[in-house]
Amino acid sequence: MDILLATFNQNKAKEITEIAKDLKIGLNFLYLKDFSNIKEAIEDGSTFKENAVKKAKSYYAQTGLITLAEDSGLTVDALNGAPGVYSSRFSGEDKDDYKNNIKLLHILEGADRREARFICVAALALSKDRIETFEGVLEGDITDQMKGSFGFGYDPVFIPAGFDKTLAELGMSVKNRISHRNKAIRQALEYFINTNQHI
Ligand code: IMP
Repeated sequence: MDILLATFNQNKAKEITEIAKDLKIGLNFLYLKDFSNIKEAIEDGSTFKENAVKKAKSYYAQTGLITLAEDSGLTVDALNGAPGVYSSRFSGEDKDDYKNNIKLLHILEGADRREARFICVAALALSKDRIETFEGVLEGDITDQMKGSFGFGYDPVFIPAGFDKTLAELGMSVKNRISHRNKAIRQALEYFINTNQHI
């Protein structure tokens, strides 16, 4: 059965592919990069869920394929949940991970409260009108300096609860075992497998 993994972010695509492999399910994944003339979905929602649903609907409409999309980001308690849905654009429209991390570290310089969480909402479009959503959360703290080279986004400044290294130091196998994306995507794929025969 074909399913579209609807993200232009190659880091996310890689993580999701690994998560799916681990589930050992016989699905054939297709990627946005394999289609020509796909228009990027407009992410103007105020929540991760709204944006995930917008992406799933848009790419389902453009390809006619069962579509798995996601929206994710970082929420920092001391910043009242920011950067949230603006995570990729925290320091500007160029979506520069390094500048985003520098900005975050600068704002939190000397702060005692460093609790934060990654949130991922996966949206599965099974038809034009049937979109199911699933949420995954990873709790942790923001460091005071960037460490590690694996991953993307805020991985170098995020220490997951129960660890003493950043996600960028822990690497793919640990991140994929505990991540917000793993929790959301796993639920979505398990739901898909269980309901597949009724679609
Ligand atoms: P999106 O592509 O609009 O969903 O933006 C997600 C943004 O949230 C990314 O560009 C990162 O800044 C941040 N983010 C989401 N998930 C992760 C993660 O697993 N590690 C690090 N940063 C993440």
